[in-house]
Amino acid sequence: MSRVLIIGAGLTGSVCACLLRRELPQKCKIVVWDKSRGAGGRMSTSRSPTDPACTVDLGAQYITATPYYARIHQSFYEELQAQGILTPLVTSVEGMASKEEGLKNYVTPKGVSSIVKHYLKESAGAEVFFDRHVTHVYRRGACWEVCRKNGEPEQFDAVVLTMPVPQILQLQGDVGSLMADPQREQLEAVSYSSRYALGLFYPPHTHIPAPWAAKYVSNSPCIRFIAVDDKKRHTESPDCGPSMVVHTSVPFGVQHLEAEKEQVQPLIMQELQRLMPHLPQPASIKCQKWRYSQVTRSVADCPGQMTLFSQPLLVCGGDGFTHSNFDGCVESALKVFEVLKSSL
Ligand SMILES: Cc1cc2nc3c(=O)[nH]c(=O)nc-3n(C[C@H](O)[C@H](O)[C@H](O)COP(=O)(O)OP(=O)(O)OC[C@H]3O[C@@H](n4cnc5c(N)ncnc54)[C@H](O)[C@@H]3O)c2cc1C
Repeated sequence: MSRVLIIGAGLTGSVCACLLRRELPQKCKIVVWDKSRGAGGRMSTSRSPTDPACTVDLGAQYITATPYYARIHQSFYEELQAQGILTPLVTSVEGMASKEEGLKNYVTPKGVSSIVKHYLKESAGAEVFFDRHVTHVYRRGACWEVCRKNGEPEQFDAVVLTMPVPQILQLQGDVGSLMADPQREQLEAVSYSSRYALGLFYPPHTHIPAPWAAKYVSNSPCIRFIAVDDKKRHTESPDCGPSMVVHTSVPFGVQHLEAEKEQVQPLIMQELQRLMPHLPQPASIKCQKWRYSQVTRSVADCPGQMTLFSQPLLVCGGDGFTHSNFDGCVESALKVFEVLKSSL
């Protein structure tokens, strides 16, 4: 049995793990490492420090299926709906640009990370470890030796990298030297937007003075999107306080990218107060800096994946190789899986 390491427990990594488990159960032993403390990556759901039932989605907000992807990823949508992980978005999102006819929007009643957790659960038998920050990858004969912060290196027969492309380029060891020049140029040309997200948690029975569940803001240099998260997901409950998420605009994110979160949070709160003067003070706030938020230029001429080395296999995937949404990640995971299938 080959030992396959998937680096990243976001959507791409978790779908890869699930496909390997379902389609090649006898061929490989799957290991997943992520540097964070939990699953989700940019599909992250954060809990209130005082009430674990009160949660907020800090990254992805809702899933939009175009008619094309609804058809080609039909089995993925059907499975997630059958499990109650995706439900139709029924409230309107003020200012949402409808780019195409026939779009279907979904929300995640248990938080957007429940999608990723579902695929990890479906990878039964895979060993999933958090707090494993990969720093170096070395070629050792027919294997890869993978080093992490605060732990012993381990050897694997194949390695899948699913982190944002700039983080792939930051890996030390042999990854850079084994990469062909055109591949490095393709990866270096990839770009992402940057933004901040604030999660605001309120005590039970707090009234949020907003007629909408979510809204795109067009008259602020700082704030681009606000959602009353439990209202957006149709999970309002008298036992649990409401939660809100605020996304900054990309220009604001870029301008404050190197600042400390503690300095940026009051700026966003001040602007939120200006936009919503009757908003009560939250019980707690979580500030997240998304240095790599959404892909603005993906890897050219390399749909879905890039094989950096074929024997032993080192392959990269993720939204950097497609586009930044649910379907982009599923498309990439399917392409990475095809490569694994033909190599294991
Ligand atoms: C603010 C925001 C809003 C968004 N809105 C939407 C939306 O509404 N709808 C939608 O469909 N999509 C949305 N997206 C995009 C979507 O979230 C991403 O496309 C998707 O989550 C990317 O998944 P991924 O698995 O490819 O990468 P990631 O989710 O980034 O997963 C990569 C994982 O690798 C881990 N990692 C990185 N480096 C290392 C290392 N050295 N060692 C170990 N682990 C490492 C990270 O911790 C992370 O968990 C949004 C994203 C953001 C940030």
